[in-house]
Amino acid sequence: MLNISNKPLFLLIFFSAFLSTHSALAVDTILVNGKIITVDDRFTIVQALAIKNQRIVAAGSSGEIRKLADSGTTVIDLQGRTVIPGLIDNHSHWIRAAEHDELRFDGVTSRAQALQMLATRARMAKPGEWVSVLGGWSEEQFTDAPRGFPLAELDSIAPDTPVAVQSIYNHVYLNSAGLRAAKIDETTPNPPNGTIEKDASGKLTGVVRGAGGVAFVAGKVPKLEAEARAINARKLVTYLNSLGITAWGDAGGRGMTAGHYEPYRQLADKGELNVRVFWTTIRQPATPEQVDKVLAEIPALKPFQGNDYFDHIGWGESVYSPITTQLLRVQKEVKPDDIAQMVRIASALAQRGIYLNSHVEMNGPIDQFLAAYEDLNKVTPIKALRWSFSHLDQIDDQQLLRMKRLGMTAQIHSRPLIQGVLMHRVHGDKAWDMPPFRRIQDSGILWGLGSDATAVTTSNPFYTLGFAITGKMVGGHHVNRQSITREEALIAHTRSNAFILFQEGNLGSLQKGKYADLLVLDKDYLTIPADNIKDLKPVMTMVGGKIVYKAGQ
Ligand SMILES: [Zn+2]
Repeated sequence: MLNISNKPLFLLIFFSAFLSTHSALAVDTILVNGKIITVDDRFTIVQALAIKNQRIVAAGSSGEIRKLADSGTTVIDLQGRTVIPGLIDNHSHWIRAAEHDELRFDGVTSRAQALQMLATRARMAKPGEWVSVLGGWSEEQFTDAPRGFPLAELDSIAPDTPVAVQSIYNHVYLNSAGLRAAKIDETTPNPPNGTIEKDASGKLTGVVRGAGGVAFVAGKVPKLEAEARAINARKLVTYLNSLGITAWGDAGGRGMTAGHYEPYRQLADKGELNVRVFWTTIRQPATPEQVDKVLAEIPALKPFQGNDYFDHIGWGESVYSPITTQLLRVQKEVKPDDIAQMVRIASALAQRGIYLNSHVEMNGPIDQFLAAYEDLNKVTPIKALRWSFSHLDQIDDQQLLRMKRLGMTAQIHSRPLIQGVLMHRVHGDKAWDMPPFRRIQDSGILWGLGSDATAVTTSNPFYTLGFAITGKMVGGHHVNRQSITREEALIAHTRSNAFILFQEGNLGSLQKGKYADLLVLDKDYLTIPADNIKDLKPVMTMVGGKIVYKAGQ
């Protein structure tokens, strides 16, 4: 039996033998006997792939690809399994998410199970630690009991550990330990734009309502320190790999600091970041004076100084806070003066040739943004900058045409997955077409699918695909009638997003020259019943030809 301690000698012998048998021409890895959906322009399906130096060097039949291997090549027999390109989310807030080691109810459709998960976490919690669920679910997703978490129930499963269960940005359920830790009692004044709920006798119910209330409580939940955050970022990336995510566009978020980016930058610098992150600068000025400050930053801005794992690509998603609409609010228009403030920033970015991704949802404000961009384009052409709008829940045909004329792309998201029922309550029948996937697909504009996770929807891309194809939210309610085909949805969640994130040469399809970012699936994406697409899971995830996740390991 060879003794490992002789490692240096052993390694020397091994390498010379290896080199003699693994010629420079041979490939590193081959995947054979699969149903590989390449998502190339002709949506070709092949049996096998060959990978060398992180990239695909050949695609074809198993027989052809086997010829490229030698004894040093890793051979993965797919045994007929389906493979798709790694799923790219064009718009999420996962960089910020690493600040909390939160519990997630992604795809949990049983309230009893959710309660069990909370109880388990509470039992494992160290002194001073909170159990927090910061959005990403809604009461409607619980098919057994579509309701929240009363104070007494949370107290029974977590008598001493603070618990905060936030539902989207609408309200949050706390237990008594959480109220104590947040220093909330019957005398605590309501936060701005929020309500600390009391019952008829004036006693706290444990519920805090409104966006202001949610922000007030979220501010009380301790954030992880730098070291713990770095560990959590790694854990989060593995979780995302297990869901099928291999790359995302990060749209920043409220309260972001340079410290939020560090864990990912450090992992990338060490070659240990198992996902690709392309982020935009987030600033949320709310007054003309604050716009002045932001404008001072733009001359020095220099995107694209990173690498294919971690790179800064531009600006967004919000530009001027007062014009940031909300999905669960009817809003016909925003103030023209506020649009003018947004244009000050957009114009400065256009002059620097910098990419801008703007959050805009409702029909009226979309018109206002487009009119502003069309005017700006007459002075400083923006057509070549690939600017993008995010969400576009109420976009119409005419507006899509105007976007195309400006060379813009559209980023469309699965927020109705958990907000569908609420959207119908607020917008009535209009909600059936929010967002209008079918209309957008038929317009021919380049558009991509994403989530906008973590607070306003689930993080699971297969839920996003399932929703775009079936119109059903978590829990099964049918809420959207703008369905697209499986092929259209997959292209929108891979190849099109690669273009949106300036990575069309590297990502988005399993073709020669592209990075080997792929998912080996547990079932076949093209033939599984549409309602089960949401339940698809990778058995293996690869990024750059490296296995970053394997089910059961
Ligand atoms: Zn967003």
